[in-house]
Amino acid sequence: MKTTVRLWKPALRAQRRAFSSTSRRLDSYAFIGLGQMGFQMARNLQSKLPPNDTVRVFDINKAAADKLVHTMQTQQAGGAAATVASSAGDAAREADTVITCLPEPQHVKSAYADILSAFDGRDTGEASGRSKPRLFIDCSTIDPTSSREVAAAVSSALPNGAGSFVDAPMSGGVVGATAGTLTFMLGAPEGLVSRIEPILLRMGKRVLHCGPQGAGLSAKLANNYLLAIENIATAEAMNLGVKWGLDPKVLASVINVSTGRCWPSEINNPVPGVVDTAPAGRDYQGGFGIGLMRKDLRLAMLAAREAGAVLPLAEKASEVYATAEADERCKGRDFSVVYRWLGGKE
Ligand code: NAD
Repeated sequence: MKTTVRLWKPALRAQRRAFSSTSRRLDSYAFIGLGQMGFQMARNLQSKLPPNDTVRVFDINKAAADKLVHTMQTQQAGGAAATVASSAGDAAREADTVITCLPEPQHVKSAYADILSAFDGRDTGEASGRSKPRLFIDCSTIDPTSSREVAAAVSSALPNGAGSFVDAPMSGGVVGATAGTLTFMLGAPEGLVSRIEPILLRMGKRVLHCGPQGAGLSAKLANNYLLAIENIATAEAMNLGVKWGLDPKVLASVINVSTGRCWPSEINNPVPGVVDTAPAGRDYQGGFGIGLMRKDLRLAMLAAREAGAVLPLAEKASEVYATAEADERCKGRDFSVVYRWLGGKE
């Protein structure tokens, strides 16, 4: 079932997906950042919008934008009208809703500098004839402080509530982005949630409202910090058991009904052959790249320092991922490849 869950005031309430079916004005969207995730998310969004709506897409890699619009026009039946924009500002200028999906904080800051310069501080909602404030949804995984800086820049460029910036980082990977089954961790004021959730549910199946702007990223980084540690610990434990002579399938089946059970042991087991669908079984190709894990760990460490939270395991984990990624046998592969780096039997 597709759900929206508010984890923050009011707590743990599930809602059914709700799209407006009444007559409505044309909505215009901009989608900026069409990489591995954004390409598929924009494709799903466009295909589920009515034909009167418009989507303008932009990526600094023009080939990605051209390919996406071609795909939308030739391989998808119906959906909103799609066009390629010449810049982030050009994509966003007329949009009610702008969605960004970019790699790192500096890319998000640079894209929003361009977007906000396109408004030139003159758009004040009603004065521009706009029926609702502009909404900016950033799905990138960045640090909460950078995200709050961009939110402040949006508020100052679009004053009097004419524009709101929210964070909606996601989990589910490229597979989830392609299937439209992502989970979004939303940081937004309560009053905006009902407007944001139907948009996100066109690209995913679950929206977890974590609190005010920035809270989605805090939740995402806390989760990925835990994942970073669990992944290394699972690889170590599996390697240890195999070296002691245990059959890896037997060891995994014990762990997975015992207290060591976790996503890396159960779904993404690092030992080839233990879980058929895990990246370990295809030379660690696909999955969650070790480089992305390093990035999320770095962002979690930065945000932890700012909050005064101590992470004694983080430095070592960061070193493990850095050295493993520098190893040609591991570079560019799923993060469970640390098992190979440890010298695990494959
Ligand atoms: P990606 O590197 O594949 O794509 C990023 C895209 O942004 C590229 O096409 C690039 O050309 C474009 N870009 C960079 N700067 C730009 C700018 N200023 N204006 C317009 N376009 C610009 O990254 P991805 O895998 O799609 O990930 C996007 C975000 O989602 C990242 O923050 C990542 O951490 C997060 N994420 C990724 C995954 C995953 O499995 N790939 C899972 C969850 C979250």
